[in-house]
Amino acid sequence: MADIFDKIIAGEIPSYKVYEDDDLLAFLDISQVTPGHTLLIPKKHVDDIFAYDDDIAQKVLLKLPVLARAIKAADKTITGINISSNNGPSAGQTVIHSHWHLIPRRDGDGLND
Ligand code: ADP
Repeated sequence: MADIFDKIIAGEIPSYKVYEDDDLLAFLDISQVTPGHTLLIPKKHVDDIFAYDDDIAQKVLLKLPVLARAIKAADKTITGINISSNNGPSAGQTVIHSHWHLIPRRDGDGLND
């Protein structure tokens, strides 16, 4: 059964796309932890990191620093970024389609308090 991110990839659910190629899609998280909070997903359905093959691992992990730099360059107030992925419901994964959170951080944003 298609998950919500499969529907975003198919264009059946709208999203604000940040980056797209044949294998990957990045779009703004609907619930922004900080402004610019972005999700990077492989288009091919993979539940979580436990199911990654080398090809997906390489594509995703090569793109994370590229996206991080692009997000930082887009907003001069961004001074850091949190990158994380929840894998498995026990780890807090709610959408079972592998995704990486890129959460821009700004001096004094209060998230460390
Ligand atoms: P959590 O929900 O605890 O953050 P996940 O790591 O599985 O767990 O993250 C799923 C993410 O998907 C959430 O940050 C949520 O806001 C986001 N999300 C859910 N539906 C959509 C949507 N339609 N468009 C963009 N982001 C979405």
